[in-house]
Amino acid sequence: MPVSETYVVVGAGHAGGRAVEAMRNAGFTGKIILIGDEPHLPYERPPLSKELLQGKPEAHTPVRDDAFYAENDIDCRLGRRATALDPARKTVTLDDGSHIAFDKLLLTTGGAVRRLPVPGADLANIHYLRTLDDSRAIDAGLADGKRIVVVGGGFIGLEVAASARQRGCAVTVLEMADRLMGRAVLSEISEAFRRLHAEHGVDIRLNTGVASFDGDGSVTHAVTGDDEKLPTDMAVIGVGIVPETALAVDAGLTVENGIVVDEFGRTSAPDIYAAGDVTNHLNPLYSRRIRLESWQNAQNQAIAAAKTMCGEAQAYSEVPWMWSDQFDANLQVAGLPEIWDRVVFRGDTGAADFIGFQMAGDRVVGAMSVNRPRDMRIARRLIGGDKPLDDAALADEAVSMRDLMR
Ligand SMILES: Cc1cc2nc3c(=O)[nH]c(=O)nc-3n(C[C@H](O)[C@H](O)[C@H](O)COP(=O)(O)OP(=O)(O)OC[C@H]3O[C@@H](n4cnc5c(N)ncnc54)[C@H](O)[C@@H]3O)c2cc1C
Repeated sequence: MPVSETYVVVGAGHAGGRAVEAMRNAGFTGKIILIGDEPHLPYERPPLSKELLQGKPEAHTPVRDDAFYAENDIDCRLGRRATALDPARKTVTLDDGSHIAFDKLLLTTGGAVRRLPVPGADLANIHYLRTLDDSRAIDAGLADGKRIVVVGGGFIGLEVAASARQRGCAVTVLEMADRLMGRAVLSEISEAFRRLHAEHGVDIRLNTGVASFDGDGSVTHAVTGDDEKLPTDMAVIGVGIVPETALAVDAGLTVENGIVVDEFGRTSAPDIYAAGDVTNHLNPLYSRRIRLESWQNAQNQAIAAAKTMCGEAQAYSEVPWMWSDQFDANLQVAGLPEIWDRVVFRGDTGAADFIGFQMAGDRVVGAMSVNRPRDMRIARRLIGGDKPLDDAALADEAVSMRDLMR
């Protein structure tokens, strides 16, 4: 590849950070420009709702330290937003009016929080959580005895609830559905986490939405759909994200619930790639498209796309996996089954210590675990494997997980 080439990466999040690193690892010696609208170098987001809200700022996890970017001659344009993309001229326009020409472009623009269109949602002390700055703003409002209302009983909302409770706050979670994390986990897991939060004193309200917020400048009450007024010092809204596709849409790239890419991260436009939360990508293991919001996908899809850009074509093809930590409980979810005919449990679903195998015939197609990281490591290898498995052996704690693989 000619040394004079320029690769531009738009979006300096987890995926963008790993991508520029992978480009240098692949031997690309041309110019790399990394554009990000946050004022920070790339960092990982999982600690934002966990350790950073538990008073452990040292848990902040940059993808690479500051020196890396200078040593590797990566031109970081931080605090700058890309506002337009011209695929024909191969230029990106920034919010200062400058144009940057590229030979190849990678879009790692991630997702933006879904905003709640309810009255009062713009009052002070109502937060969303996506960025380090969001996390720091929430952290500043957490203190013993403060009242916090969390809207949304998904992963992020529940992690915030657990962290705030660990800081001594009185926490109420409002969840519209009849169970927690309902879109992502088995009902036994929802129930285990409902109990966990209740045991720690979090007031979980299922089948309850927020209708509005009241306050004079700053929020004082969250008003539920049943017209109950919950006094609060702060509200945190965690109702999901939408993929940040505006640049791609305006540029005429194919976008359908994310930027459509193949297994190599290639978009519908030549020399334009995408990776991370923003993509709707083809996973060869499942022969279908998926959009994922996970650390694993941000990291490894970005590396695969970057290598492909550098001429070392690498397909991104992994069993999806993600985790959440709430209080002392670790939750992991692996696989992406569309259909399963039963769930086999190993362990005690009543004691927050179990793994559930989603079965299709005699194959494991998905697994979810509470406090069983070691079992999960093996379960991830069983998923998609071609070994027939027996329900009784899967459920039997006397049969080691390792033996199941043999
Ligand atoms: C609080 C929190 C906790 C999480 N915990 C877990 C966990 O425990 N386990 C797990 O598996 N996953 C977790 N995740 C998910 C994981 O962090 C994301 O999947 C991952 O960050 C996605 O990375 P990304 O680089 O694709 O997108 P992002 O991290 O969203 O990065 C995209 C970046 O691009 C910037 N950008 C967007 N548009 C433009 C533009 N036009 N110009 C310039 N810059 C732009 C954005 O501001 C952002 O900085 C968590 C996420 C959050 C928010």
